[in-house]
Amino acid sequence: MNGARHAVVLGAGVAGLLAALVLADHFARVTVFERDGFDVEGMRKGVPQARHLHGLLDGGRTVIEELLPGFTDEMTARGATRAEALVATRWYVGGLRAAPAATGLTSLIATRPLLESLLRERISRLSQVRLVAGTARGLIGDRHGVRAVSVSGDSGVETHATDLVVDATGRGTRAPVWLTALGAEPPAEQRLEVDLGYSSRFYRRLEGQLDGHASVIISTGASGRGGGAVRVEDDRWHVTLAGILGDHPPTDPDGFTRFAASLAAPDILDLITRSEPVGDAVPHRFRAPVRRAYRRRAAVPHGFLLLGDALCSFNPLYAQGMAVAAQQAAALRACLRSGGPTPDLPARFYAAADKALDVAWQLSAGADLAHPGVVGPRTVRTRLTNAYVARVHRAAHVDPHVSRTFLRVANLVEPPTALLHPAMAGRVLLRGGTRAAAPNIRPTGPGPLRASGPSPDPRPSIPSDR
Ligand SMILES: Cc1cc2nc3c(=O)[nH]c(=O)nc-3n(C[C@H](O)[C@H](O)[C@H](O)COP(=O)(O)OP(=O)(O)OC[C@H]3O[C@@H](n4cnc5c(N)ncnc54)[C@H](O)[C@@H]3O)c2cc1C
Repeated sequence: MNGARHAVVLGAGVAGLLAALVLADHFARVTVFERDGFDVEGMRKGVPQARHLHGLLDGGRTVIEELLPGFTDEMTARGATRAEALVATRWYVGGLRAAPAATGLTSLIATRPLLESLLRERISRLSQVRLVAGTARGLIGDRHGVRAVSVSGDSGVETHATDLVVDATGRGTRAPVWLTALGAEPPAEQRLEVDLGYSSRFYRRLEGQLDGHASVIISTGASGRGGGAVRVEDDRWHVTLAGILGDHPPTDPDGFTRFAASLAAPDILDLITRSEPVGDAVPHRFRAPVRRAYRRRAAVPHGFLLLGDALCSFNPLYAQGMAVAAQQAAALRACLRSGGPTPDLPARFYAAADKALDVAWQLSAGADLAHPGVVGPRTVRTRLTNAYVARVHRAAHVDPHVSRTFLRVANLVEPPTALLHPAMAGRVLLRGGTRAAAPNIRPTGPGPLRASGPSPDPRPSIPSDR
């Protein structure tokens, strides 16, 4: 691909925008096609998940900060909440609150549209980058590689010659169909059926709520139910309830409240019953994390690569998607810097991106498989790891060193092996053996804060992934 001039990015989500930023240093022209166009502010059709809580792990924030210096300050200036992760957040794991500790992690809490609008604005300033409304329809080339892309827009369907296509169209990517049509091999797919349901609603924030904490996260424990409430711009709480394996939170007010009351800690219920709602609750159904990978380097077509959710979409419960998309953009930049935009760039990129993907996938798939109802391969290693992680959770309730390290691993800042360091393992084995205290669980019987009677589950047209 020597003398490369033009790169095309399909999709202007977090992954596509960060890819365009990185490509701009190595291509004379970068065109980003986005189905929703670029005139939309706030929530938009192409990313229905934006209506649900979007936490940015610090392992992603630091990468974005490196790619776009000043990102954290600009987000804060626009209303994002910036907080120390485990001091300003109440984090419940295994039914009890993790011991507060200084983690060195920065939580940057905002809605997804705020984050995306800042990325779009910064990237639109690059002279090499053009942001164009258009829907990708297919690839042009042969089984060895891609030479052009066909895009429909205001002036009908057009063909755009390109040296590289980056598919960042999200988890609904049509790449497997497009590649098959060229006679090229699509990547193999790995799925883990979790049938996760989200229900989310905004609330007006009152002074002093949550004792001034910026957020509360109640991890899905053995019940498979969890939730979060985070303080976002315009003095609002963004509240998301979640349930796996078909146990989805309702969107009607009574059902929403009742589901919140069933969580392992009362914080979210207290918050929503004392705050004024802003708009209705909205649902989302997410069936399965999907990871795509080529088993043979020789099978990777030239001139085309998948990035972001199109390459790997994670269970949203672990908030990894945007951070791993940022890490993939950084991996792409490293490949471009070390070897340039050569024909084997896609194969080199997959090898580099796999390092980030492996860690995140291991953490999230391992946590999914800790639920007996999730069907998937449980090796002896998976079982041993999950038994150890259960001990880590219990130790984290009482030992700030453990809660600190666990949160740093979950934020993709330290490798999972940090939890196996002899000093850490000693704490985990010593403190994680038995429950340190009675679970902080609100009684599940009828009470003043619980709605009564069954309620319909109004999920007529739930935004859902493919
Ligand atoms: C319910 C839910 C909650 C989540 N919560 C979190 C969280 O807390 N933290 C986190 O980090 N991640 C979270 N994620 C994941 C996160 O949304 C993604 O990982 C992240 O947005 C990166 O995705 P992406 O840019 O690859 O794809 P997307 O964000 O899906 O963007 C794809 C873009 O491509 C466009 N597009 C699609 N098809 C075409 C086409 N044919 N032509 C042109 N454009 C096209 C779409 O309009 C869209 O703009 C969540 C996901 C879900 C489903």
